[in-house]
Amino acid sequence: MAEIIAILNQKGGCGKTTTAVNLSAALAQFGRKVLVIDMDPQGNATMGLGVDKRTTERTIYDVLTGDISMGGAIIGTEMSGLDVVPSNISLSGAEIELSKEVGYHTILDMALDGVASSYDYIFIDVPPSLGILALNSLVAADSVIIPIQAEYYALEGMADLMNTIHLVETRLRSPAPIKGILITLYDSRTRLGREVYSNVKEYFGQTENIFKTTIPRNVKLAEAPSFGESCITYDEESSGAKAYLKLAEEIIQLEGTEDNK
Ligand code: ADP
Ligand code: MG
Repeated sequence: MAEIIAILNQKGGCGKTTTAVNLSAALAQFGRKVLVIDMDPQGNATMGLGVDKRTTERTIYDVLTGDISMGGAIIGTEMSGLDVVPSNISLSGAEIELSKEVGYHTILDMALDGVASSYDYIFIDVPPSLGILALNSLVAADSVIIPIQAEYYALEGMADLMNTIHLVETRLRSPAPIKGILITLYDSRTRLGREVYSNVKEYFGQTENIFKTTIPRNVKLAEAPSFGESCITYDEESSGAKAYLKLAEEIIQLEGTEDNK
């Protein structure tokens, strides 16, 4: 059964999509079967994995509205072992439409039932808000990775995020523990980078796992999506690719040690 991991932070630009794409590709490189669910109407993960969001016919929107099954929306990528369920702007109407459904927060969770046994990992790229799409992602997820950009205000909004995770656990009885906090866009040479790192440690260090791997700022990570590729295939020797490969190893080391599967 796949471990379903939501990549979550309501802050835009903190590296959610970059992490969804590159961590998935890195795990596929290590032989894992991985599916990326693009839950963001911007469709950046879709494009980043080489699927054209403007022309793709079956998207996560059609799955959530019940028109097709999850299996019917899966598209293979150039990389073996790495698939994607695409998204595009059509998903932006879903928040309102879905809110009229009974049990609307469980729609993604149920839709994933049919495909979870075919993968080792399913990553959900969550949009930057704590709305219905994020709620569906949290209910579906076994755990959460929170990317945090090493910048001032990195922890702003964190209380809301923690509160949402907590409410999903207590009110919906669907716990999604934090698998790890991931420091992104990190530069250990700057004082700011080091300061943010120590703030994050102070905030989470006692209670949550902070991944040992940090993701450096690396232009290759920003370039790769314009070629419809992860950095793992675009430039495996880049510091960005190496960091995500290291993170994948860290995650592989956790396999079998957690009881939340
Ligand atoms: P989010 O999905 O959280 O909004 P993205 O992953 O889309 O964030 O990242 C925001 C922007 O920053 C994108 O243009 C992306 O290419 C770039 N970016 C993300 N992580 C890095 C990194 N480690 N180094 C350089 N650029 C990055
Ligand atoms: Mg994104």
